[in-house]
Amino acid sequence: MKNSERYSKIINWFQKNMTFAQSELHYKNPYELLVAVILSAQCTDIRVNMVTPGFFKKYPTSKLLAKANSEDVFQLIRSISYPNSKTRHITAMAQMLENDFGGTVPENVNDLQKLPGVGIKTANVVASIVYGKPVIAVDTHVFRVAHRTGLADELDKTPEKVGKRLEKNIPEKLRAISHHWLILHGRYVCTARSPHCCDCGISKYCKYFENSLKK
Ligand code: SF4
Repeated sequence: MKNSERYSKIINWFQKNMTFAQSELHYKNPYELLVAVILSAQCTDIRVNMVTPGFFKKYPTSKLLAKANSEDVFQLIRSISYPNSKTRHITAMAQMLENDFGGTVPENVNDLQKLPGVGIKTANVVASIVYGKPVIAVDTHVFRVAHRTGLADELDKTPEKVGKRLEKNIPEKLRAISHHWLILHGRYVCTARSPHCCDCGISKYCKYFENSLKK
């Protein structure tokens, strides 16, 4: 199957079968999303969602978080992975947000990446969800699904390269939702250890499935 056909079939399938796809993190505003995404690195959304209600009750704004005591922040997020470094990151992020950006989460991906704890993936997630920027954040699920299906090339060894490949082939207006399609598909169907190919709606267009039939 030609790559352009694979893209078109897979996108069509998701458009028809996953009309509603969004982040599973709970948040009420850009600040809360930014904190939640930083906390979700190497951690499940479910665990983050258990912690953030109490956290945002105590720190509802970046202004309050910027002045927070590190030990208090640590105690609130201690059940999340890497609580020490995340305590440092979110507190420093809030301070920079207040000092350099007037308390407003920036919409530019480069500005977002200046914030402590914010790499390209977090920046793309926030820019795409909050500001509708046509960028695709590549996390472990997106990376895996893109490679298995054949949407990514074997030479796309880094998340950045996979992101560029996806952005080149997916129309701008569908990029934001594509990120959620691929994450949800990777989380619930094309799982890391044993993909559920028999229950997968895109198996007909998937390179991994195609190759498995030849064995
Ligand atoms: S057919 Fe299997 S490997 Fe391919 S996308 Fe579906 S679950 Fe993943």
